[in-house]
Amino acid sequence: MAAITLKNVVKKYGDGYPAVNDVSLDIDDGEFVILVGPSGCGKSTLLRMVVGLEDISDGEIVIDGDVVNDKAPRDRKLAMVFQNYALYPHLTVFENIAFPLRLDKGKFSEDEVRTRVEKAADTLELREHLDRKPANLSGGQRQRVAMGRAIVREARAFLFDEPLSNLDAKLRGQMRTEIARMQRRLGTTTIYVTHDQTEAMTLGDRVAVLKKGVLQQAASPRALYDQP
Ligand code: ADP
Ligand code: ADP
Repeated sequence: MAAITLKNVVKKYGDGYPAVNDVSLDIDDGEFVILVGPSGCGKSTLLRMVVGLEDISDGEIVIDGDVVNDKAPRDRKLAMVFQNYALYPHLTVFENIAFPLRLDKGKFSEDEVRTRVEKAADTLELREHLDRKPANLSGGQRQRVAMGRAIVREARAFLFDEPLSNLDAKLRGQMRTEIARMQRRLGTTTIYVTHDQTEAMTLGDRVAVLKKGVLQQAASPRALYDQP
């Protein structure tokens, strides 16, 4: 069974041409799918519909066999990692990672919060940084804190929306390596939006190409880019 299935997904804003037009795609458990395409082709809209931040006009989004069209973001068990990682500057790494658990007031005991945060920190090699503030972390460490937040919620999949697009070339290269390393470690299902071909080639198990809201093809980076 696919982890995430898109069935004939449509998004219309007003009367215009659909921003996302009849997109169907099966994403396997543990698969890293890259979503590419020119600016305005509907990548962000598609991602936001999957995570539940945007209503879907037609079609179905299925997660682990459940149609989630009407489910709130919190009930979809997906974790969106934003461009700036949306860390709280005044909170420590520990409290940043614990944050999603504290939203459900009283659901997790203090012991349980600590156990979960420390386990995530071990996985992400952040254990010795738990008392620091985000300003004192490297870009790669900040990225891992953002992923830690997803891990404590036991998120089913990661969704990244152009996480590296604001970085200079050198840092982008380091972060790309970092993401690839974490992905191998965690094996989490991922949808990753980018317009950077190097990211698509190095990170993706499969690359899905969107154009004017329509899915053109979904193939291995090799099949897509190594054509003679
Ligand atoms: P991408 O992420 O590929 O750059 P988007 O998903 O942001 O593309 O946008 C796809 C299309 O939908 C664009 O034509 C954009 O102008 C339009 N669009 C996106 N968000 C909205 C919105 N909130 N209201 C109206 N149109 C929107
Ligand atoms: P509210 O409780 O008012 O709906 P939010 O929408 O910010 O507040 O968060 C609701 C739930 O959705 C939280 O459990 C949070 O962990 C989760 N959540 C918030 N943002 C995201 C996101 N980008 N991706 C996935 N889940 C999110």
